[in-house]
Amino acid sequence: MKTNIIAHVALTFEFSAPSGPADQRSMVEDDIGRLTDADSTSGVACTDFSVTSIETATQNSAVSRTHVICATCGSENVRADAYASWDADTGEWVLHSIYDEKFCEVCETSTSLLEVDEATGLEVQAFGMIYCDDGARLVQGREQPEFYDLIVKTMAVAGGEILTLHEFDDMNRLEVEKCLADMAMLYPSAPVSCFFGDLVGSGRTNLPS
Ligand SMILES: [Zn+2]
Repeated sequence: MKTNIIAHVALTFEFSAPSGPADQRSMVEDDIGRLTDADSTSGVACTDFSVTSIETATQNSAVSRTHVICATCGSENVRADAYASWDADTGEWVLHSIYDEKFCEVCETSTSLLEVDEATGLEVQAFGMIYCDDGARLVQGREQPEFYDLIVKTMAVAGGEILTLHEFDDMNRLEVEKCLADMAMLYPSAPVSCFFGDLVGSGRTNLPS
């Protein structure tokens, strides 16, 4: 007599490119299908499987995200006109299409948008600063900074321009460390450079010579 048993297992899959949940589920199903085809020598036969849920592993920050920003000011506070319909099964609005009209809440006007990859298109930079006659300047050598600034910026976009997504000024050392931690949560894949003068030899990147 043959017995069917159902085994509940958790499988971890590594994705090399960004993808949405529907694509992820279909790729996972394809891969499990290939795995179960290869089980004929183990004494049991997997006759069926179903993927009941997928979730992003919390330790997995390797997949970089795409950020959509205003092409004029760099803000992520942007809106798009869209068309949605009500899905009675899920009890949620389902997005159908996004129209060309885009709006920036910071510029308070219509705008065009840019898509930037977090790992290759963004950078977090923190600076140790010294007050001087002209206002302020970057620390030199091992000078002790008097205050700290931090920006989240794009790499050069079309036309060589660099856009700033966030800017934080006049922080003390504790505040800039907190800000760096906050930005690491918001942009976990973005490279970080700290130009603090006193951080030579630490794990962080420092001012290129
Ligand atoms: Zn804008």
